[in-house]
Amino acid sequence: MLLGLLFDIRLQRQYERLRSMALPSPFSSPTLKTNPCGSSRVPTTSSVSHHHHFLTCPSGGEPSPHRKKSQSLVVLGHRQGQPLIENCILCDRKCLRELSSWGIGGPCRYFLRTSGASQLVAAVRYCRERCIPFLVLGRGSNCLFDDRGFDGFVMLNRVDQLELTEPGVYRVGSGFHFNRLGVRCSAEGFSGLEFAGGIPGTVGGAVFMNAGADCQETGDVVDSVEIVTMDGELQVLRRSELAFGYRWSAFQDMKDLAAIVAVTFRLTPSTAATERQRAFLERRRRTQPIGERSAGSVFRNPSGAEMSAGRLIELAGLKGFAVGGAKVSNVHANFFVNFNGSTSQDMLALISHVKESVDKKFQIELKEEVKYVSHRTQM
Ligand SMILES: Cc1cc2nc3c(=O)[nH]c(=O)nc-3n(C[C@H](O)[C@H](O)[C@H](O)COP(=O)(O)OP(=O)(O)OC[C@H]3O[C@@H](n4cnc5c(N)ncnc54)[C@H](O)[C@@H]3O)c2cc1C
Repeated sequence: MLLGLLFDIRLQRQYERLRSMALPSPFSSPTLKTNPCGSSRVPTTSSVSHHHHFLTCPSGGEPSPHRKKSQSLVVLGHRQGQPLIENCILCDRKCLRELSSWGIGGPCRYFLRTSGASQLVAAVRYCRERCIPFLVLGRGSNCLFDDRGFDGFVMLNRVDQLELTEPGVYRVGSGFHFNRLGVRCSAEGFSGLEFAGGIPGTVGGAVFMNAGADCQETGDVVDSVEIVTMDGELQVLRRSELAFGYRWSAFQDMKDLAAIVAVTFRLTPSTAATERQRAFLERRRRTQPIGERSAGSVFRNPSGAEMSAGRLIELAGLKGFAVGGAKVSNVHANFFVNFNGSTSQDMLALISHVKESVDKKFQIELKEEVKYVSHRTQM
């Protein structure tokens, strides 16, 4: 515990010092880097895909010709922080079901709870040096973990500093609870994140997924995003570079992304924000299985179709349909709940059955919104 604290303080100082040397402020029109693509993409065993990071050894691969070396510096010295980080890593002891809103998943090989940006960066570098596949996890409210767990490194992101830099402009650590941020901004008289009330994820997860509800989306109010790349470099990306779309951000395809570290939101003043949020929360309570173990909507709403995924599933007669311990919610057909010790196999079988049924009845192919994390990555 004490060791972890010392570790964090030391690395935090290094991080802040190097950040101030390396990065322009997000508010002062930084020279932005294009998104270089370096590492190989992870194939998945299911169409329920997940982008986790498969690392090439620094010594092994050629640098990408697209990579621009710019003002962003490598964050820490070569070996700095490494012995300390080793002392904080749990091996084969953390069960992913504890970290997932579905309550499903086996153990991960390595686990670290990161509470400072510098610690997150050091963990990325630790994995890279050892060619360990890794996953940055927020609140696990959009992930399906495998029963066998994850044969790699899970960094539980709890980087949760918040700074109000000017009225309506919030620079927030990516591990900050998104629900809490939405409630706070609305209560402080700013509009744009009312919908975040009730979303049980982190800021990083919300930006990665472009989470949204009630005609609002995360990307609409993002000003800039600070990331760390696979090379341990810090970059600041502006909203225009992030291709936000329906439950989509450029991060989902960004092979060089190691982790989202902080996000700056620019909100507009509104005296009605709290009232609007109250109405959104009320609708949530009426229409969603609050208190049950779910991961929110399993499928994206199909583009071009007149009906939502939930409505299609309901019309296919599948509300309440169960496989093992996994069930289509009786309250909202696009929420699947772990009602009785569901395994990942139960949930995958249920997802697959619902897809087939909807396809058969409506000739519409549903696409998963949730991310499946397979046990092993393959080259
Ligand atoms: C009850 C309930 C209600 C929900 N309602 C909504 C809703 O209204 N709208 C909506 O859009 N979603 C909703 N969701 C889904 C989910 O909460 C959101 O997608 C949320 O944004 C996920 O955040 P997370 O931190 O839990 O992400 P995680 O599940 O931890 O991760 C999701 C993905 O993001 C990546 N990721 C997370 N953090 C980082 C980071 N710092 N750097 C890089 N990658 C990262 C992960 O690697 C993973 O690929 C709901 C879920 C539940 C359980």
